[in-house]
Amino acid sequence: MKIAIAGAGICGAYLYRLLHNKGFDDVAVYEQEQQHKTGCSISPCAWGTSLGFEPLVEHAGLDPAKYTRMQFDHVMMDEMRIEAYALTFDKPLLISDLLQDAVIQQSPIDTAEYDRVIDATGVLRAYLPEIKDDLIFPCVQYCIRSSEPLDMSIKISRIGYAWIFPLSDGIYHIGAGSLVVKPHDMLKNLSWVKQGVKQGDKNEKREVICRCASKVRLTAPIGSRPYIFRNIWGTGEAIGCVAPLAGEGIIPGMRSAQILVENWDDHLAYERAILNEFSWMEEERRVVDRLRRGERIGIRDGLILKETTKRMNMKLHLWDALKMLMRARK
Ligand SMILES: Cc1cc2nc3c(=O)[nH]c(=O)nc-3n(C[C@H](O)[C@H](O)[C@H](O)COP(=O)(O)OP(=O)(O)OC[C@H]3O[C@@H](n4cnc5c(N)ncnc54)[C@H](O)[C@@H]3O)c2cc1C
Repeated sequence: MKIAIAGAGICGAYLYRLLHNKGFDDVAVYEQEQQHKTGCSISPCAWGTSLGFEPLVEHAGLDPAKYTRMQFDHVMMDEMRIEAYALTFDKPLLISDLLQDAVIQQSPIDTAEYDRVIDATGVLRAYLPEIKDDLIFPCVQYCIRSSEPLDMSIKISRIGYAWIFPLSDGIYHIGAGSLVVKPHDMLKNLSWVKQGVKQGDKNEKREVICRCASKVRLTAPIGSRPYIFRNIWGTGEAIGCVAPLAGEGIIPGMRSAQILVENWDDHLAYERAILNEFSWMEEERRVVDRLRRGERIGIRDGLILKETTKRMNMKLHLWDALKMLMRARK
């Protein structure tokens, strides 16, 4: 079977490795020329993850310890210290190891030349038909060197949030995304990128190493159909496998590639399995829609956020979840 994978991001690379391990030997990988060169040469350079990442990496025959940069037993959410399990990993290294032996081509794909083309092009969904009412979340992210140690932190804002993810000693990803305010303005107000403005410490240094602007699909799989069109099958963020409340797409995307391999010969079973696995994203999407409409937040919404944070092993009280959602409301 002649296969082309469009997109050498985390899902395309992971799928390539799973197919390779299963003995598929005619798999071509296509990547677009990156318009915006980042320091790490990939975009989005999202390196934060949590429970479930390690088994997925092991499933591909790799050792997760090789990619783990830092592990955390708590996250600061709106200045509250919440127990959690989170880690940052070396995403470029993992992608490069997953793609070992692959020849990466940089041209448009002639889809007629292949038995199957996989659309793993993330938010661009370059080969599948456009999604009606697609919900796209704009983000910015900086890579920063800071002389002051910073905690893994999340700050909720209007239908969005800002984050600090430590990558290694002194190096951090600091970013923000929102459906209603400019992500740049959120970071400016927090003074997280520029040194010494709010913090008032003249000796504190924050140097920008690189920056990128990108987007995340919050549509959820239920609204991201079709997953299959002619000989094109989608996976990862291209078919909405991103948690709408957290914007977290690495584990769901890798898992979607695994589900694709498990249902390789049955497109209906693939669609059913994706909808079933990510049914919780429908509930999260409903909460996001309620926030966008400025509706009252209820206990049910708080319970959904609480459930979401359990994926990071967080111990969040219902009352705190409700307070966060109120702050996130438009
Ligand atoms: C700023 C930011 C921070 C994030 N932080 C996190 C985080 O910390 N944790 C987390 O879990 N999720 C995070 N996310 C979401 C997560 O990065 C994505 O959901 C995940 O990367 C999706 O993986 P993917 O492989 O489906 O798509 P992508 O990672 O977007 O990969 C798609 C690839 O396809 C390529 N491509 C696009 N068009 C074409 C084409 N026509 N031909 C060939 N190739 C093409 C792209 O260049 C890219 O390499 C973040 C997103 C952003 C924007």
